[in-house]
Amino acid sequence: MFAIEARKMGYRVHTFSPDSDTPTGQVADIETCASYEDLDSVRDFAKSVDVVTFEFENVPSATVEAASELVGVHPRGDILHTTQNRLREKTFLSDNGYPVTPFRKIKLIEDLYHATRELGTSAVLKTAGFGYDGKGQSRIRSAADIEPSFAALNGTEGIFEAFVEFDKEVSVVCARGRDGDFAHYGVIENAHSNHILDISFAPADVTPKVAAEAVEIARSIVETLGYVGTLCVEFFLTKDGKLLVNELAPRPHNSGHLTFDACVTSQFEQQLRAVCGLPLGSTEFYRPAAMANLLGDVWESGEPHWDRALAIPGVKLHLYGKADPRPGRKMGHITAMADSAKQAVEFATDARSMLITPS
Ligand code: AMP
Repeated sequence: MFAIEARKMGYRVHTFSPDSDTPTGQVADIETCASYEDLDSVRDFAKSVDVVTFEFENVPSATVEAASELVGVHPRGDILHTTQNRLREKTFLSDNGYPVTPFRKIKLIEDLYHATRELGTSAVLKTAGFGYDGKGQSRIRSAADIEPSFAALNGTEGIFEAFVEFDKEVSVVCARGRDGDFAHYGVIENAHSNHILDISFAPADVTPKVAAEAVEIARSIVETLGYVGTLCVEFFLTKDGKLLVNELAPRPHNSGHLTFDACVTSQFEQQLRAVCGLPLGSTEFYRPAAMANLLGDVWESGEPHWDRALAIPGVKLHLYGKADPRPGRKMGHITAMADSAKQAVEFATDARSMLITPS
């Protein structure tokens, strides 16, 4: 989606990935297929472009450093390094005074026993690195869960987080330009299923006070980081109206995909503008909007009925061009626009169920 926006504005796109025929590669002018550890290929790639950015944050630090020696990389490698690891990220957030759920570093089983004594036995234990969409997470509900959840870490470093009894999850997708310019899309509300984002809609159903606080936290985070590009701040909103930052995504984010159809400037164009040193665009919404993710499960009984979903007015389809529709894998999404966010959610979810309804 970034490459599509770049091509629309006349930029040539060169993508680097360990895989071939990737969603970006299908749109880009050039696709380099090489391992992130192959630093000679990384340097050749960096020499051939004017600026580098990411759509995926788990690129090794050494790869980013090698590219940074030759060309501008936005967001910077040290920011990527912080956000790639939940412990580093939560430590950055709490050290700078941003609200997060209490957490502890877990290396040994004793650390976990200690953490449960201090913070209680209602918690989530996550791998510190390389986790997304609930991968590498286990829920602790009582002392009986301590040993199995520690075993699930498989010897890797973990983070223990006190479980948040949240009312809802929301996010702020925002961007900061090279000159410090700031833009945001207000607050987007998110519903997850099996730890994977299922539905997002905007505007979120939150009070103006909560919305202003969430945007201010996001603004302050990008300022503190000296960030350039699109960033998403994911929050829990607790039942007593408090915001806690759950995660930072240093790139366009799934919850902002609806901006592709619903806004004057999408989160992807905003990323392009920021990393190319252009002014940020208007984030105005044409209409309230909702997004429903399409996981590989939708293909379970054969080709989905695209024609039925697209017969609903205001519904748009995005498929990423991934070859193998495995269950749980994000393959695309549906966006719907309507007079209210609630109606947009209805259109998006109706369209998605029509994909798999037998004739
Ligand atoms: P994450 O990969 O950290 O974004 O977690 C995926 C999802 O798991 C979140 O969007 C929440 O729905 C849930 N989750 C993660 N951490 C916690 C927590 N500390 N308390 C409650 N729910 C959580």
